[in-house]
Amino acid sequence: MSGTFVGMPAFPAFPRAAHDAVHNPVLRANLRHATHTIRARRAGAVAELSDWAELREAGRRIKDHTLRHLDRYLLQLEESVTAAGGTVHWAVDADDANRIVTELVRATGESEVVKVKSMATQEIGLNEALAREGIRAYETDLAELIVQLGEDRPSHILVPAIHRNRGEIRDIFRSEMGKWGRPAPAGLTDTPAELAEAARLHLREKFLRARVGVSGANFMVAETGTLIVVESEGNGRMCLTLPETLISVVGIEKVVPTWRDLEVFLQTLPRSSTAERMNPYTSMWTGTTDGDGPRTFHLVLLDNGRTDTLADEVGRQALRCIRCSACLNVCPVYERAGGHAYGSVYPGPIGAVLSPQLRGTGSEIDASLPFASSLCGACYEVCPVAIDIPEVLVHLRERVVEGGPAVRQGNKVVLRPAKGHAAERAAMRAARWAFTHPGALRAGRRLASRTRRLHPRTLPGPGRAWSGTRDLPAVPPESFRDWWQRTDGGKDGAK
Ligand code: SF4
Repeated sequence: MSGTFVGMPAFPAFPRAAHDAVHNPVLRANLRHATHTIRARRAGAVAELSDWAELREAGRRIKDHTLRHLDRYLLQLEESVTAAGGTVHWAVDADDANRIVTELVRATGESEVVKVKSMATQEIGLNEALAREGIRAYETDLAELIVQLGEDRPSHILVPAIHRNRGEIRDIFRSEMGKWGRPAPAGLTDTPAELAEAARLHLREKFLRARVGVSGANFMVAETGTLIVVESEGNGRMCLTLPETLISVVGIEKVVPTWRDLEVFLQTLPRSSTAERMNPYTSMWTGTTDGDGPRTFHLVLLDNGRTDTLADEVGRQALRCIRCSACLNVCPVYERAGGHAYGSVYPGPIGAVLSPQLRGTGSEIDASLPFASSLCGACYEVCPVAIDIPEVLVHLRERVVEGGPAVRQGNKVVLRPAKGHAAERAAMRAARWAFTHPGALRAGRRLASRTRRLHPRTLPGPGRAWSGTRDLPAVPPESFRDWWQRTDGGKDGAK
């Protein structure tokens, strides 16, 4: 996957980043095994419901309705959370959110926090921001723990350590656990039960000691101010209930208007993500309750590019995402490239449309992500909220090629003329000229037909990367128009 495809940025970061992964047989085997297993189980779980299509449509509608009236529902949520004893903070971007969380932790006098698995806090780099201020954040989700101990990066939404096999996890536990707390038991093997037990013992002392918990949330209910976290291990529930202070950092798109709306998502999310009929642990909390759970609750509502995404009529559908990861598990590009090549906490098809919108297309990686797809459409078929990812990919490709990177100027996001893509833009200008000059087009077609035996099999220059993996279409001996005129529309039966 090296080289430059026509239409891709001049220095395509995704193909370069994916290069090592596609040539790593262990990684590819891990990914193939994991994604194929999950995708088959998901298909079975979905097939059990005769009204899956209706649920999917209901999910799409609820999300679209909420996004259309997001301002209203967020204010309602703030009112509900405040009335229930919580405090709401608004964070414009990552720096803002990190500053708010850091100050809240400092105010408690603590220097460590336990974390529930949270993509929003990874998106803003919270752990690193806290570390700079001398506060240690402990990941407690098993896969996130593996990633943290291995000084690694997550590569999957649901299974962040999907790129690791059991032997690698055993080695990480053996060598790293002791640096973070209780060491791995002597003689630890790579059996799942032993690995889980090692993690349980290691984490238990952190749960019992921690006085501050940090979480995200899968949903927030505007009418009651309730936050919901779904998970499979129970570690999240420990973080949500044991500490005295709970700080939740949640993207503004996670709000839903009513409790009733959860009826849809609590069916579609578990079946799409873990292929379960319901999540083993569904934790819900509304503000604070005397004698039960944290005594202080803060909700940090995170924008960080979401309102810019909302302003894009085509791209905004990406904000419907409920992070089930079904699109990753069916994506042929993700299966081969792995998650790290996407350069973001959001890998796979949803990452390819979300990251360039949240971060803009000004960087090499973000400008290349809309091209990290074969547009096969498998992601759209499995998405439980019907996000037409291929449509958004094509839309973003157009933005990258035509308009150049999106950059912020004051309060506005504008498109800056692209430096790359000169060849493609010149080709498009030439095509436009030809299609608006029929005589020249006809002459060009005839010339191409007459010289077709001389045509090269591959394109020169930057086009070589494109024709290196595709057959150039053969030019016919006669154009359709000429054939039509010569045969009077085929009436004489001529060929
Ligand atoms: S885009 Fe759809 S399929 Fe992919 S993670 Fe989001 S909700 Fe799931």
